Amino acid sequence: MKYLDEFRDPALAAALVENIHRRSTRRIRIMEFCGTHTVSIFKLGIRQLLPPTIEMLSGPGCPVCVTANADLDCAIALACEPEVILSTFGDMLRVPGSRSSLEKAKAEGAEVRIVYSTLEALQIARDNPDRPVVFLGIGFETTAPTIAASVLQAEDEGITNYCILSMHKLTPPGTKAILDSGESHLDGIIGPGHVTTIIGSQAWEFLPRDYGLSCVIAGFEPLDILQGIYTLVDRIEAAQPAVTNVYPRSVRPEGNKVALDHMYRVFEVCAADWRGIGEVPASGLRLRETYRHFDARERFEVHPGPTIEPPGCLCGDVIRGAKTPPECGLYRKVCTPHHPVGPCMVSSEGTCAAYYLYAEE
Ligand code: SF4
Repeated sequence: MKYLDEFRDPALAAALVENIHRRSTRRIRIMEFCGTHTVSIFKLGIRQLLPPTIEMLSGPGCPVCVTANADLDCAIALACEPEVILSTFGDMLRVPGSRSSLEKAKAEGAEVRIVYSTLEALQIARDNPDRPVVFLGIGFETTAPTIAASVLQAEDEGITNYCILSMHKLTPPGTKAILDSGESHLDGIIGPGHVTTIIGSQAWEFLPRDYGLSCVIAGFEPLDILQGIYTLVDRIEAAQPAVTNVYPRSVRPEGNKVALDHMYRVFEVCAADWRGIGEVPASGLRLRETYRHFDARERFEVHPGPTIEPPGCLCGDVIRGAKTPPECGLYRKVCTPHHPVGPCMVSSEGTCAAYYLYAEE
Protein backbone atom coordinates (compact mmCIF):
# COMPACT_ATOMS: atom_id res chain seq x y z
CA MET A 1 0.00 0.00 0.00
CA LYS A 2 1.43 3.36 -1.02
CA TYR A 3 -1.37 5.88 -0.96
CA LEU A 4 -3.53 7.16 1.85
CA ASP A 5 -6.80 6.31 0.05
CA GLU A 6 -5.90 2.65 0.26
CA PHE A 7 -6.03 2.91 4.06
CA ARG A 8 -9.64 4.06 3.73
CA ASP A 9 -10.93 1.28 1.46
CA PRO A 10 -14.56 0.57 2.52
CA ALA A 11 -14.53 -3.09 1.42
CA LEU A 12 -11.38 -3.83 3.42
CA ALA A 13 -12.79 -1.94 6.40
CA ALA A 14 -16.01 -3.99 6.24
CA ALA A 15 -13.97 -7.22 6.12
CA LEU A 16 -11.95 -6.18 9.17
CA VAL A 17 -15.11 -5.27 11.09
CA GLU A 18 -16.54 -8.69 10.23
CA ASN A 19 -13.34 -10.39 11.40
CA ILE A 20 -13.44 -8.48 14.69
CA HIS A 21 -17.06 -9.60 15.28
CA ARG A 22 -16.19 -13.19 14.45
CA ARG A 23 -13.07 -13.30 16.67
CA SER A 24 -14.43 -11.48 19.72
CA THR A 25 -16.12 -13.88 22.14
CA ARG A 26 -15.58 -12.35 25.59
CA ARG A 27 -15.92 -8.90 27.10
CA ILE A 28 -12.71 -6.88 26.91
CA ARG A 29 -11.59 -3.32 27.62
CA ILE A 30 -9.18 -1.61 25.24
CA MET A 31 -7.60 1.78 25.84
CA GLU A 32 -6.25 3.98 23.09
CA PHE A 33 -3.46 5.98 24.69
CA CYS A 34 -3.29 8.73 22.10
CA GLY A 35 -5.62 11.71 21.73
CA THR A 36 -5.29 11.62 17.94
CA HIS A 37 -6.55 8.02 18.01
CA THR A 38 -9.41 9.09 20.27
CA VAL A 39 -10.54 11.75 17.80
CA SER A 40 -10.12 9.42 14.79
CA ILE A 41 -12.06 6.62 16.49
CA PHE A 42 -14.95 8.96 17.30
CA LYS A 43 -14.88 10.78 13.98
CA LEU A 44 -14.89 7.53 11.97
CA GLY A 45 -17.68 6.03 14.08
CA ILE A 46 -15.49 3.01 14.92
CA ARG A 47 -17.03 2.49 18.35
CA GLN A 48 -20.43 1.93 16.73
CA LEU A 49 -18.98 -0.70 14.38
CA LEU A 50 -17.59 -2.88 17.16
CA PRO A 51 -19.39 -5.78 18.84
CA PRO A 52 -20.80 -5.13 22.34
CA THR A 53 -18.04 -7.34 23.75
CA ILE A 54 -15.47 -4.60 23.13
CA GLU A 55 -15.39 -1.54 25.36
CA MET A 56 -13.15 1.26 24.17
CA LEU A 57 -11.62 3.67 26.68
CA SER A 58 -9.71 6.85 26.00
CA GLY A 59 -6.37 7.37 27.68
CA PRO A 60 -4.09 10.20 28.74
CA GLY A 61 -2.55 10.91 25.36
CA CYS A 62 -3.47 14.55 25.07
CA PRO A 63 -0.45 16.62 26.18
CA VAL A 64 -2.54 19.66 27.03
CA CYS A 65 -4.93 17.59 29.15
CA VAL A 66 -2.22 15.94 31.25
CA THR A 67 -0.46 19.21 32.01
CA ALA A 68 -0.95 19.76 35.73
CA ASN A 69 -2.59 22.96 36.93
CA ALA A 70 0.55 23.85 38.91
CA ASP A 71 2.61 23.84 35.68
CA LEU A 72 -0.04 25.78 33.83
CA ASP A 73 -0.16 28.37 36.62
CA CYS A 74 3.61 28.67 36.36
CA ALA A 75 3.32 29.31 32.60
CA ILE A 76 0.66 31.98 33.16
CA ALA A 77 2.79 33.63 35.85
CA LEU A 78 5.78 33.64 33.49
CA ALA A 79 3.69 35.27 30.77
CA CYS A 80 2.92 38.08 33.23
CA GLU A 81 6.60 38.76 34.01
CA PRO A 82 7.78 42.17 32.73
CA GLU A 83 9.24 42.10 29.20
CA VAL A 84 8.64 38.36 28.75
CA ILE A 85 7.31 37.13 25.42
CA LEU A 86 5.71 33.75 25.96
CA SER A 87 5.42 31.59 22.85
CA THR A 88 3.26 28.49 22.77
CA PHE A 89 1.36 26.10 20.57
CA GLY A 90 -2.24 27.35 20.26
CA ASP A 91 -3.85 24.46 22.17
CA MET A 92 -2.61 25.85 25.48
CA LEU A 93 -4.19 29.27 25.16
CA ARG A 94 -7.68 28.54 26.47
CA VAL A 95 -6.81 25.92 29.07
CA PRO A 96 -8.07 27.22 32.42
CA GLY A 97 -5.49 27.30 35.20
CA SER A 98 -6.26 27.88 38.87
CA ARG A 99 -7.12 31.56 38.48
CA SER A 100 -6.60 32.52 34.86
CA SER A 101 -5.57 31.23 31.44
CA LEU A 102 -2.98 32.31 28.92
CA GLU A 103 -5.83 33.77 26.87
CA LYS A 104 -6.98 35.92 29.79
CA ALA A 105 -3.40 36.93 30.61
CA LYS A 106 -2.98 37.99 26.97
CA ALA A 107 -6.19 40.01 27.11
CA GLU A 108 -4.84 41.73 30.22
CA GLY A 109 -1.64 42.76 28.47
CA ALA A 110 0.76 39.81 28.69
CA GLU A 111 2.60 39.15 25.44
CA VAL A 112 1.58 35.63 24.49
CA ARG A 113 2.28 34.56 20.94
CA ILE A 114 1.00 31.44 19.22
CA VAL A 115 3.59 29.65 17.13
CA TYR A 116 3.41 26.56 14.95
CA SER A 117 6.98 25.45 15.51
CA THR A 118 10.01 26.14 17.65
CA LEU A 119 11.60 27.74 14.58
CA GLU A 120 9.06 30.57 14.91
CA ALA A 121 9.80 30.90 18.62
CA LEU A 122 13.51 31.15 17.84
CA GLN A 123 12.80 33.82 15.24
CA ILE A 124 10.87 35.81 17.85
CA ALA A 125 13.97 35.60 20.06
CA ARG A 126 16.22 36.79 17.21
CA ASP A 127 13.84 39.68 16.47
CA ASN A 128 13.65 40.76 20.13
CA PRO A 129 17.18 40.41 21.49
CA ASP A 130 16.44 42.61 24.51
CA ARG A 131 13.45 40.58 25.71
CA PRO A 132 13.32 37.09 27.19
CA VAL A 133 11.39 34.67 24.98
CA VAL A 134 9.97 31.65 26.81
CA PHE A 135 8.71 28.66 24.85
CA LEU A 136 6.25 26.29 26.52
CA GLY A 137 7.65 22.79 26.15
CA ILE A 138 4.44 20.78 26.13
CA GLY A 139 4.08 17.35 24.62
CA PHE A 140 5.27 13.78 24.58
CA GLU A 141 8.30 12.20 22.91
CA THR A 142 6.96 13.41 19.56
CA THR A 143 7.55 17.09 20.23
CA ALA A 144 10.46 16.95 22.67
CA PRO A 145 13.10 16.29 19.94
CA THR A 146 12.01 19.39 17.99
CA ILE A 147 12.25 21.49 21.13
CA ALA A 148 15.65 19.99 21.88
CA ALA A 149 16.71 20.94 18.34
CA SER A 150 15.68 24.55 19.01
CA VAL A 151 17.89 24.63 22.11
CA LEU A 152 20.83 23.26 20.12
CA GLN A 153 20.18 25.86 17.41
CA ALA A 154 19.99 28.67 19.97
CA GLU A 155 23.28 27.47 21.49
CA ASP A 156 24.94 27.37 18.06
CA GLU A 157 23.78 30.88 17.20
CA GLY A 158 24.51 32.31 20.62
CA ILE A 159 20.87 33.29 21.18
CA THR A 160 20.82 34.00 24.89
CA ASN A 161 17.31 35.40 25.36
CA TYR A 162 15.55 32.11 24.47
CA CYS A 163 14.48 29.61 27.11
CA ILE A 164 12.14 26.66 27.64
CA LEU A 165 9.57 25.86 30.29
CA SER A 166 9.78 22.09 30.03
CA MET A 167 6.58 20.26 30.91
CA HIS A 168 7.25 17.27 28.67
CA LYS A 169 5.87 13.88 29.55
CA LEU A 170 7.09 10.40 28.67
CA THR A 171 4.40 7.97 27.60
CA PRO A 172 5.55 4.53 28.88
CA PRO A 173 5.88 5.69 32.54
CA GLY A 174 2.51 7.48 32.25
CA THR A 175 0.93 4.26 30.99
CA LYS A 176 2.53 2.29 33.83
CA ALA A 177 1.13 4.77 36.36
CA ILE A 178 -2.38 4.28 34.98
CA LEU A 179 -2.06 0.50 35.07
CA ASP A 180 -0.62 0.60 38.59
CA SER A 181 -3.57 2.69 39.79
CA GLY A 182 -5.65 -0.47 39.24
CA GLU A 183 -8.70 1.52 38.12
CA SER A 184 -8.80 0.90 34.41
CA HIS A 185 -8.95 -2.95 34.26
CA LEU A 186 -7.60 -3.14 30.74
CA ASP A 187 -7.13 -6.12 28.45
CA GLY A 188 -5.17 -4.34 25.75
CA ILE A 189 -3.71 -1.02 24.66
CA ILE A 190 -3.54 0.75 21.32
CA GLY A 191 -0.14 2.39 21.54
CA PRO A 192 0.47 5.90 20.20
CA GLY A 193 1.62 5.78 16.58
CA HIS A 194 3.42 9.13 16.45
CA VAL A 195 5.17 8.73 19.80
CA THR A 196 6.24 5.19 18.92
CA THR A 197 7.73 6.43 15.66
CA ILE A 198 10.22 8.21 17.92
CA ILE A 199 10.65 5.75 20.83
CA GLY A 200 10.24 2.51 18.85
CA SER A 201 7.87 -0.40 19.43
CA GLN A 202 10.43 -2.06 21.75
CA ALA A 203 9.58 0.61 24.33
CA TRP A 204 6.22 -1.14 24.93
CA GLU A 205 7.61 -4.61 25.61
CA PHE A 206 7.02 -4.07 29.34
CA LEU A 207 3.26 -4.39 28.73
CA PRO A 208 3.20 -8.12 27.89
CA ARG A 209 6.22 -8.84 30.09
CA ASP A 210 5.18 -7.07 33.31
CA TYR A 211 1.41 -6.70 32.96
CA GLY A 212 0.41 -9.60 30.68
CA LEU A 213 -1.20 -7.06 28.34
CA SER A 214 -1.19 -6.95 24.57
CA CYS A 215 -0.29 -3.74 22.81
CA VAL A 216 -0.72 -2.83 19.19
CA ILE A 217 1.01 0.12 17.57
CA ALA A 218 -1.39 1.54 15.02
CA GLY A 219 -1.62 4.44 12.59
CA PHE A 220 -4.53 6.82 12.31
CA GLU A 221 -6.39 5.86 9.13
CA PRO A 222 -9.54 3.68 9.32
CA LEU A 223 -7.77 0.48 8.25
CA ASP A 224 -4.85 1.16 10.60
CA ILE A 225 -7.20 1.42 13.57
CA LEU A 226 -9.43 -1.52 12.59
CA GLN A 227 -6.39 -3.71 11.91
CA GLY A 228 -5.04 -2.66 15.30
CA ILE A 229 -8.27 -3.58 17.08
CA TYR A 230 -8.50 -6.91 15.24
CA THR A 231 -4.89 -7.74 16.17
CA LEU A 232 -5.52 -6.89 19.82
CA VAL A 233 -8.71 -8.97 19.95
CA ASP A 234 -6.88 -11.86 18.33
CA ARG A 235 -4.02 -11.72 20.87
CA ILE A 236 -6.38 -11.38 23.82
CA GLU A 237 -8.60 -14.25 22.65
CA ALA A 238 -5.52 -16.42 22.12
CA ALA A 239 -4.17 -15.39 25.56
CA GLN A 240 -0.83 -14.58 23.91
CA PRO A 241 0.10 -11.09 25.06
CA ALA A 242 2.54 -9.36 22.72
CA VAL A 243 3.49 -6.04 21.18
CA THR A 244 2.49 -5.95 17.52
CA ASN A 245 3.37 -3.15 15.15
CA VAL A 246 0.69 -2.69 12.48
CA TYR A 247 2.12 0.71 11.53
CA PRO A 248 5.43 -0.40 9.96
CA ARG A 249 5.32 2.38 7.37
CA SER A 250 6.22 4.76 10.21
CA VAL A 251 7.33 2.75 13.26
CA ARG A 252 10.48 0.68 13.67
CA PRO A 253 11.38 -1.45 16.69
CA GLU A 254 14.26 0.87 17.64
CA GLY A 255 12.44 4.13 16.83
CA ASN A 256 14.08 7.22 15.41
CA LYS A 257 17.63 7.27 16.73
CA VAL A 258 18.44 10.76 15.43
CA ALA A 259 15.42 12.25 17.21
CA LEU A 260 16.18 10.32 20.41
CA ASP A 261 19.83 11.45 20.31
CA HIS A 262 18.73 15.08 20.05
CA MET A 263 16.20 14.64 22.84
CA TYR A 264 18.58 13.00 25.30
CA ARG A 265 21.47 15.29 24.42
CA VAL A 266 19.46 18.26 25.67
CA PHE A 267 17.06 16.70 28.20
CA GLU A 268 17.39 14.26 31.05
CA VAL A 269 14.64 12.21 32.65
CA CYS A 270 12.99 13.59 35.80
CA ALA A 271 9.77 13.16 37.77
CA ALA A 272 6.71 14.92 36.31
CA ASP A 273 3.35 16.00 37.63
CA TRP A 274 0.44 14.61 35.57
CA ARG A 275 -3.10 15.93 35.89
CA GLY A 276 -5.25 13.26 37.47
CA ILE A 277 -2.31 10.97 38.16
CA GLY A 278 0.03 13.08 40.28
CA GLU A 279 3.80 12.91 40.37
CA VAL A 280 5.16 10.01 38.36
CA PRO A 281 8.86 9.17 38.76
CA ALA A 282 11.00 9.27 35.61
CA SER A 283 8.11 10.44 33.44
CA GLY A 284 9.24 13.93 32.45
CA LEU A 285 12.13 15.75 30.84
CA ARG A 286 14.21 18.63 32.16
CA LEU A 287 17.16 20.41 30.60
CA ARG A 288 20.52 18.81 31.32
CA GLU A 289 23.06 20.72 33.37
CA THR A 290 24.93 21.72 30.16
CA TYR A 291 21.80 23.42 28.85
CA ARG A 292 20.33 24.58 32.16
CA HIS A 293 20.83 28.22 31.09
CA PHE A 294 17.94 27.63 28.67
CA ASP A 295 15.67 26.58 31.55
CA ALA A 296 12.95 29.17 32.28
CA ARG A 297 12.62 27.82 35.84
CA GLU A 298 16.27 28.76 36.45
CA ARG A 299 15.94 32.22 34.94
CA PHE A 300 12.71 33.31 36.62
CA GLU A 301 11.39 32.93 40.10
CA VAL A 302 7.61 32.89 39.89
CA HIS A 303 5.12 32.23 42.69
CA PRO A 304 1.79 31.43 41.06
CA GLY A 305 0.03 30.64 44.34
CA PRO A 306 -1.86 27.56 45.45
CA THR A 307 -3.38 25.29 42.86
CA ILE A 308 -7.17 25.18 42.54
CA GLU A 309 -8.88 22.51 40.44
CA PRO A 310 -12.12 23.45 38.65
CA PRO A 311 -14.97 22.34 40.99
CA GLY A 312 -16.93 19.40 39.59
CA CYS A 313 -14.52 18.73 36.71
CA LEU A 314 -13.58 15.04 36.35
CA CYS A 315 -10.75 15.51 33.86
CA GLY A 316 -8.34 13.60 36.12
CA ASP A 317 -10.66 10.57 36.15
CA VAL A 318 -11.30 10.85 32.40
CA ILE A 319 -7.54 10.92 31.75
CA ARG A 320 -7.05 7.72 33.77
CA GLY A 321 -9.93 6.00 31.96
CA ALA A 322 -11.75 5.71 35.32
CA LYS A 323 -14.73 7.84 34.14
CA THR A 324 -16.21 8.85 30.81
CA PRO A 325 -17.21 12.45 30.04
CA PRO A 326 -20.98 11.80 30.28
CA GLU A 327 -20.37 10.75 33.90
CA CYS A 328 -19.26 14.31 34.65
CA GLY A 329 -22.14 16.44 35.94
CA LEU A 330 -20.88 19.46 33.99
CA TYR A 331 -20.60 17.73 30.61
CA ARG A 332 -22.73 19.44 27.94
CA LYS A 333 -24.63 21.41 30.62
CA VAL A 334 -21.99 23.82 31.87
CA CYS A 335 -18.92 22.57 30.05
CA THR A 336 -18.85 22.85 26.25
CA PRO A 337 -16.11 23.64 23.73
CA HIS A 338 -17.30 27.28 23.81
CA HIS A 339 -17.18 27.42 27.61
CA PRO A 340 -14.73 24.71 28.64
CA VAL A 341 -14.32 24.04 32.35
CA GLY A 342 -11.44 21.58 32.06
CA PRO A 343 -8.63 20.89 29.58
CA CYS A 344 -10.25 17.73 28.19
CA MET A 345 -12.94 19.98 26.65
CA VAL A 346 -10.50 22.63 25.42
CA SER A 347 -8.04 20.56 23.50
CA SER A 348 -8.84 19.33 20.01
CA GLU A 349 -7.43 15.97 21.19
CA GLY A 350 -9.31 15.99 24.51
CA THR A 351 -11.66 13.12 25.30
CA CYS A 352 -14.50 15.41 26.44
CA ALA A 353 -14.27 17.45 23.23
CA ALA A 354 -14.29 14.24 21.15
CA TYR A 355 -17.38 12.99 23.00
CA TYR A 356 -19.08 16.37 22.63
CA LEU A 357 -18.42 16.61 18.90
CA TYR A 358 -18.92 13.02 17.81
CA ALA A 359 -20.72 10.87 20.42
CA GLU A 360 -24.48 10.72 20.78
CA GLU A 361 -24.38 10.86 24.58
FE1 SF4 B 1 -13.86 18.50 32.94
FE2 SF4 B 1 -15.71 19.47 31.25
FE3 SF4 B 1 -14.74 17.06 30.85
FE4 SF4 B 1 -16.35 17.52 32.91
S1 SF4 B 1 -16.90 17.64 30.74
S2 SF4 B 1 -14.46 16.31 32.91
S3 SF4 B 1 -15.76 19.61 33.44
S4 SF4 B 1 -13.60 18.98 30.74
